[in-house]
Amino acid sequence: MEKPSPLDSMIARFNEAADIINLDQRYRDIISVPERVVTVNLPVKLDDGSTRVFEGYRVIHSTVMGPSKGGIRYAPFVDLDEVKALAGWMTFKCALVGLPYGGAKGGITLNPKVRSIDELERITRSYTRALKDVFGEDSDIPAPDMGTSNREMAWIFHEYSRIYGYTPGVVTGKPLHLGGSKGRVAATGWGTMLATMQAIEKMNWEPEKSSCAVQGFGNVGSWAAKLLADQGVKIVAISDHTGGYYNKEGLKVREAVAYVKEHGTLEGYTGGERITNEELITLDVDILVPAAIENVITIENAEQIQAKLIVEGANGPIASDADKIVDEKGILVVPDILANAGGVSVSYLEWVQNRRGHYYPEEEIREKTAPILMDAFERVYQTHKKYKCSMRIAAYVQAIERLATGIDLEGNF
Ligand code: GLU
Repeated sequence: MEKPSPLDSMIARFNEAADIINLDQRYRDIISVPERVVTVNLPVKLDDGSTRVFEGYRVIHSTVMGPSKGGIRYAPFVDLDEVKALAGWMTFKCALVGLPYGGAKGGITLNPKVRSIDELERITRSYTRALKDVFGEDSDIPAPDMGTSNREMAWIFHEYSRIYGYTPGVVTGKPLHLGGSKGRVAATGWGTMLATMQAIEKMNWEPEKSSCAVQGFGNVGSWAAKLLADQGVKIVAISDHTGGYYNKEGLKVREAVAYVKEHGTLEGYTGGERITNEELITLDVDILVPAAIENVITIENAEQIQAKLIVEGANGPIASDADKIVDEKGILVVPDILANAGGVSVSYLEWVQNRRGHYYPEEEIREKTAPILMDAFERVYQTHKKYKCSMRIAAYVQAIERLATGIDLEGNF
């Protein structure tokens, strides 16, 4: 059977949550489709002198709660449906946490690993020019996602500012020296760590006695692993696209981070026994943090999962048809729109700092963000108890209620 696409998964969960609160059809019609979908074809000169046309997207899912917000993904498998799903998740994420933003996502179908830095710069600048009327500090604010980082955000900021004048608030996740925020690089993984610690408390576990496997060692996974290890949680497995690394006694996460910094990937890392990414998912651990891509947990492997707690660092790592299996096994799932909301929450503070021209120390960023995220966790947890539904569906309920209120207050249109 074909697994549901991320978009199918998003719609399925939205409908399930909407049913629980008997959401009127009017809201369903508005929220279940994107407001605006833009496809751009970008002719870019490659280093060898030839020209290639890259396809890019920007999907504005919703602006009900404010300007749309969401990252830009560079990956070979990016397509419009995936970007639509990711844009929808941003709407729910921002609404759930209570940020004054709607949701959007962008992407370009390309493999950043085979492109030179010069090519990536030309592609990014071309994408920015093509979307110059979509992006804006009061309309649509991009940020990094898979395959992009503060380097690409600097190019977007610069290209956009060449057209409209100095506008740091048009994009977040910028380098510190160009108006970025302290704490933004670590923010998503930091939020995932916070959510994991709250869940550990709800489970009545002790961090020191809890074992954890983290799938994906990019920005989110590596920070989550490092910060969880700092809290005493035993990180027994990590992985990237080269495979998994397992050590029952606990891995030295800082060493692994240093290794990746030097070698680019975990390939050749000797701190743990080699396992596959698939084996990592079904390891005998207390906590599983999928922090890579969508659909890594499906009806094919959900039954074999041994973890009792799953914290979704990635967007959409569990396919919706596997939700039931995971729930029936009694696994507590802290869903993506809650567990990875740290990134966009610090993005929000970056945007605030840019617009005020006043910058906060890192301590203040954490002090401002932690209560927002922890409150969202608590609300989701209580909603999950109230409706006896999964935390995922509870998170959607919270987000949808806020969106429906926004639509009502906007009045007739
Ligand atoms: N791409 C990140 C996410 O999926 C961050 C978005 C942002 O900071 O706007 O949440």
